[in-house]
Amino acid sequence: MNNSKNILNYMFGVGAINNLASILKNKISDGDYVVYFIDEYFENSQLLNNLPINNQDEIFFVQTKDEPKTKFINDFRNILVEREKNNPKAIIAIGGGATLDTGKAISNLLTNPGNAEDYQGWDLVKNPGIYKIGIPTISGTGAEASRTCVMTNPTNGLKLGMNSDFTIYDQLILDPNLTKTVPKDQYFYTGMDTYIHCIESLNGRYRNAIGDAFSYQAIALCRDVFLSDDMMSDYNREKIMVASYLGGCAIANSFVGIIHPFSAGLSVVLDTHHCIGNCITMNAMKEFYPKEFEEFNLMAQKQGVIIPKGIAANLDEDIYLKLYNSTVIHEKPLSNALGDDFKNILTLEKTTEIFKRM
Ligand code: NAD
Ligand code: ZN
Repeated sequence: MNNSKNILNYMFGVGAINNLASILKNKISDGDYVVYFIDEYFENSQLLNNLPINNQDEIFFVQTKDEPKTKFINDFRNILVEREKNNPKAIIAIGGGATLDTGKAISNLLTNPGNAEDYQGWDLVKNPGIYKIGIPTISGTGAEASRTCVMTNPTNGLKLGMNSDFTIYDQLILDPNLTKTVPKDQYFYTGMDTYIHCIESLNGRYRNAIGDAFSYQAIALCRDVFLSDDMMSDYNREKIMVASYLGGCAIANSFVGIIHPFSAGLSVVLDTHHCIGNCITMNAMKEFYPKEFEEFNLMAQKQGVIIPKGIAANLDEDIYLKLYNSTVIHEKPLSNALGDDFKNILTLEKTTEIFKRM
């Protein structure tokens, strides 16, 4: 049985980020330092002037062109060790899922020996990480609330996080002001991650009342936001931030279904980013999720968002084989959706047909 852990402290509301200084004040004394991981989008922004950054603090801007790789996490750790800054009082991550996951992974790696790839799996992290604060600037992945931090190890193609209670943020600052500048399409793709994993969970076999409750409420908020006239209005940015948080709590109590494994296949083989990959996959899922397929397309249409098509339409046979292998490897979600004999349904021929439809 799950012994679920949730975020202990969170502060929610417009302007919440202005409380970072007072939160840190309780943690640090003279001579202490903290390490910031900040989405590269904010590199020259006003946001930096409003952060309580001190001279001795370290700031890293996190690139988002590629999703986090294990090497990238190890490299950050190595820099901190070289600079003798590997024992900070806090790690503060400000950004989207990629940056939030980077903050979590480094926090664990600074207190545990070895490299990031040693901890890809379940409950492999032995020591609590550095105290960490997550501040999302785009809503939808639930990374702010979840107990994992997704990373790819390019050497073996494994895309898996450090699933651990130690991976959960100690403190969140949820400030809907921060998501104002997200480009519209990206806002939709990432927001849809919440909708998609919750509809997958609710259509699965391994369900329970807690996971369902988080999912139902997260989906209701997604509907409010994405079926409205302006998904990025002030109130809608608040709602989707809450939906993302609840969706992250839902993941801890449930499983995804068919869409995430196919999206993971796209990600490992074609480097497609997670959230857009889910949306592309959703459009090939009419036979599995007919009602949700219709609703998803209605939402995209309502917000004037175009979902790319044809990214896997004409590939070589060996690529379809790679896509197949990196999809069916996700046994738990696929058996959650299709039963234990899912491989009889998702044959190489069938998965190829689905990828061609995307
Ligand atoms: P992201 O971190 O990849 O960022 C997407 C884009 O939005 C980037 O270009 C970024 O610079 C930009 N951006 C972010 N905030 C902005 C702002 N306020 N204004 C303007 N631009 C902004 O986005 P994501 O979709 O949130 O995260 C995807 C990542 O999350 C993937 O690496 C995926 O594997 C991971 N993920 C993690 C979990 C988890 O539970 N840990 C769950 C799902 C996905
Ligand atoms: Zn997801």
